[in-house]
Amino acid sequence: MGAGIVGVTTAYELNRDGFEVTVIDREADAAAFTSYANAGLFAPGHAYAWSSPAAPGILMRSLWRNDQALRFRPNLDPAFWRWMWRFWKQCNAERALINTTRKARLCGYSQTVFHDTVERAPVEYDGHTGGLLYLYRSAPSFEAARTKSRILTEAGCRIESLDADGIVRVDPALGPVKARFAGALYAPGDESGDCCMFARNMAAWLKGQGVDFRWSTEIKGFDLEGDHIAAVVTDKGRLTGDAYVLALGVYSPHLARSLGVDLPIYPVKGYSVTVPTEGRNNVPTIGGVDEETLVAYCPMGARMRITATAEFSGYDRSHRPSDFRTMLGVMKSLFPDAADYGKLDYWAGLRPMTPEGTPILGQARHKNLWYNTGQGHMGWTMSHGAARITADLIAGKTPAIPLDGMLVAA
Ligand SMILES: Cc1cc2nc3c(=O)[nH]c(=O)nc-3n(C[C@H](O)[C@H](O)[C@H](O)COP(=O)(O)OP(=O)(O)OC[C@H]3O[C@@H](n4cnc5c(N)ncnc54)[C@H](O)[C@@H]3O)c2cc1C
Repeated sequence: MGAGIVGVTTAYELNRDGFEVTVIDREADAAAFTSYANAGLFAPGHAYAWSSPAAPGILMRSLWRNDQALRFRPNLDPAFWRWMWRFWKQCNAERALINTTRKARLCGYSQTVFHDTVERAPVEYDGHTGGLLYLYRSAPSFEAARTKSRILTEAGCRIESLDADGIVRVDPALGPVKARFAGALYAPGDESGDCCMFARNMAAWLKGQGVDFRWSTEIKGFDLEGDHIAAVVTDKGRLTGDAYVLALGVYSPHLARSLGVDLPIYPVKGYSVTVPTEGRNNVPTIGGVDEETLVAYCPMGARMRITATAEFSGYDRSHRPSDFRTMLGVMKSLFPDAADYGKLDYWAGLRPMTPEGTPILGQARHKNLWYNTGQGHMGWTMSHGAARITADLIAGKTPAIPLDGMLVAA
C-alpha cells in the first residue's frame, strides 16, 4: 500500500526475494506525493534527530518570527497536540543522542542496500557521489557542530572538518563566497539524487520483473477476519494477499486508526523549488546545506533543487511565491550565476514525521500486516534499508540491524 519511495523500495526488496507483489496507489504514477520533489540528499552525515534540547526554543520563537527554519502555527487538531507532546518528551540531550544514533545506523545500512540495488537494477536517478557539504557561517556554530558530529562519527559516519580553502577544494563553485563561511563539515560518503526519478524508473523496472502496479486506486479500508487482514478495500474493489505492507506516508495513521492502531506520525511541511542550470556557470558540483538558514541545495542533472523550512500546518500543501523568497535569496547570493532563477518550479510536500525521527516498522495486532512508514525528513535516505528490513521480517529472517525504538506499538 503506497508507491512513494518507501512503497517502491519495499516492492523491490519483496520482488527480489521471489514474492509476487502488487502495489496500490491512488496517484497515477510512483512518487507523486511527498517523494516527488524532496531535497535529494542521501545524507547519513546529517542523520541528526530534530528533537533536540534546542528545538522547543526554536518552535516558540517561530510564533512571532517568520524566519525560523522550524516553525509552527498552533491549531485545534488533537492529533497535532498529541504528537507535539510526544516530540517535547524527546527534546533532551539523552533522547537526542539515542535517536540520532539509531537514525545514523539505519541511514548507513540503507546506503549499503541502496548501492546493492543500483548495481543490480541500474536505474537512472541523476545521482551525484562525492559527498555533501554542511556549511557554517560563524565560528561558534561551526565549533558546536564539530562537537555534535562526534555522535555520527561514533556511529560510523565519515565526517571531515574543512576551513574556507578546504571548502573550495571540495566544491570550487563556492570559491567566490568562501569568506562567508567559518568552516564546513564534509561527509565524503554522502551522496544525492532525484528520489522521484529513481522511484519512477524503479517502478518501470519492477513492472518488467512482474510487479503489478494498481494506479489511481484509492484504499478505503480493510476487511478483517479475526487478527488477520482478509482484503484491502479500494474504490476499485477488494484486493487480497498473504501479507500486506502499509507505506502510505502521512496518511498511514488514517488507515491504521481504522485498525485500532495509533501511529505517531504528523505531517511537517517543506518547500522546494527546482531551477534549470543548463549552460550556466559555477553550478555546485555536490549538494549541501547552509546550516545558518537551513537551506539545502542539490545539483540534479541539468537542474538544481533548493529546499527549506519545516512547518507544522496540518495537511495543507498550498504554497505562494513569497514562501520561497528567503531560500531563493540565499541561493542567489551563494550561486548567482548557477541557475536561471527566472524559471522556477515551486512545490511543497509533507514529511511523515515521528517524534523520534526514526520510522515505524514491524507488526502490530494483525498477523499479516507490516508497517513501513514515518521516515520523516530522511525517507529517500532511509527507505532502502527500511524496505530490506521489512522484507526480512516478512520472510521471518532477522534484520541486519537492531530495530530498537522502531517497532510499532501493538
Ligand atoms: C521539502 C522536503 C525535503 C526533503 N528532503 C529530503 C532529503 O534531502 N533526503 C531524504 O532522505 N528525505 C528527504 N525528504 C523526506 C522524504 O521525501 C520523505 O521521507 C519520503 O518521500 C516519504 O516517502 P513515503 O513513501 O513514506 O511517502 P509518500 O511519498 O507520500 O508516499 C505515500 C504514497 O501513499 C499514497 N497514498 C496515501 N493514501 C492513500 C490511499 N488511501 N490510497 C492509495 N494510496 C494512498 C500516496 O499517493 C503516496 O504515493 C524531504 C521531504 C520534504 C517534504
